[in-house]
Amino acid sequence: MNQQKSFESERATLYIVATPIGNLSELTPRAKEILENADVIAAEDTRNTMKLLSHFQIDTRLIAHHKFNESASSKGIVSLLREGKSVAVVSDAGYPLISDPGSELVQEVIEAGYPVVPVSGSNAMLNALVASGLSPQPFLFYGFLPSNERQRIRELQTLRHYPMTLVFYEAPHRIEKMLNNCLEVLGDRPMCLARELTKKHEEFLRGTIQEVLPVAATRKGEMVVIIAGDEEKKAPDVTQAMPLIKEHIQSYVSEGMTTNEAIKRVARERGMSKNEIYKEYHGLN
Ligand code: SAM
Repeated sequence: MNQQKSFESERATLYIVATPIGNLSELTPRAKEILENADVIAAEDTRNTMKLLSHFQIDTRLIAHHKFNESASSKGIVSLLREGKSVAVVSDAGYPLISDPGSELVQEVIEAGYPVVPVSGSNAMLNALVASGLSPQPFLFYGFLPSNERQRIRELQTLRHYPMTLVFYEAPHRIEKMLNNCLEVLGDRPMCLARELTKKHEEFLRGTIQEVLPVAATRKGEMVVIIAGDEEKKAPDVTQAMPLIKEHIQSYVSEGMTTNEAIKRVARERGMSKNEIYKEYHGLN
C-alpha cells in the first residue's frame, strides 16, 4: 500500500498541473502559484508552454517531457525529486495524462516514493460531458479511436452494447468518417459534438448521429464527441447484458474476426483469461 497525505508532506513533489484548453483565464490561482514556485516545469512542448508562462510572467526553468522521451525523462524527473527539487508537469492543454503523456511518469514517481499531487483545471472531456445534455453518469472516456478504419470499427463493436455514455476525442479531418462508422456500428443514437470549448467559436451540436453528421462534416477546430450508451442495456451490471461465451465469440467471428482474435477480444471484455475462454469455447472445461 502507498499512503499519501498531500498537504502534510515535506518531500519534493510532482504536481500534475491542468492548463487552459483555450481560454487563458481558466488558469487557476493555485496552478499559477505552483508553476511559479516549482523548481522545474516538465512540458510536452516547451515552446507552447513558454507562451503560457510569458503571459503570466512566470520564469521557472522548463524541460521537455513528451511521448518520445517519456521513459528517459521520467527517470530524470525522479532524479530531480531525489535532489529535493519539486517538478510541475504540464501538457499542451488540459490535464496531462488525459490523451497526453504523463502516466509512465506518475507510476515511476509513486514507485520512487514521492507525492504526486493533482492541480485542478480545465479538461475537454468534462466540459463537453456536462454541457452535452446526455446522461453524465456513468460514462466511459475512450479518448481517440484508432485512425485505422478497420481497427476503429472493431473498437466501436466492443463498445456497442455498453450502457454508459461514450466520450471520444476526434480530429476535424476524421470527424465525418468517424461519425459514419459510429452510425453504422452503434445505430442512430443521441449525441453531442462539442467544439472549440472555452474559445470564441465554442459550439455544441446536439441531436442524433444522423442529424449532427452533415453539419459536423463542415466544422473545424478541436472536438469532443459524446454518444449515448446502449439504451437497451441500461442495467448497471454489464456482465448481465453479456451473451453466453460461445455466442459472444461467434458474434465476432460472423463479423470477420478469426476465432483467436474473437477469443482475445471476449477475454478482454469479460475480464477473463484467454485460456479460460478458449477452454469454454472448445468445451474443454
Ligand atoms: N489533455 C487534454 C484534456 O485534458 O482534455 C486533451 C489533449 S488531446 C491531445 C487533444 C484533444 O482534446 C483534441 O484533439 C480534442 O479532441 C480535445 N480538445 C482539447 N481542447 C479542446 C477544446 N478547447 N474544445 C474541444 N475539444 C478539445
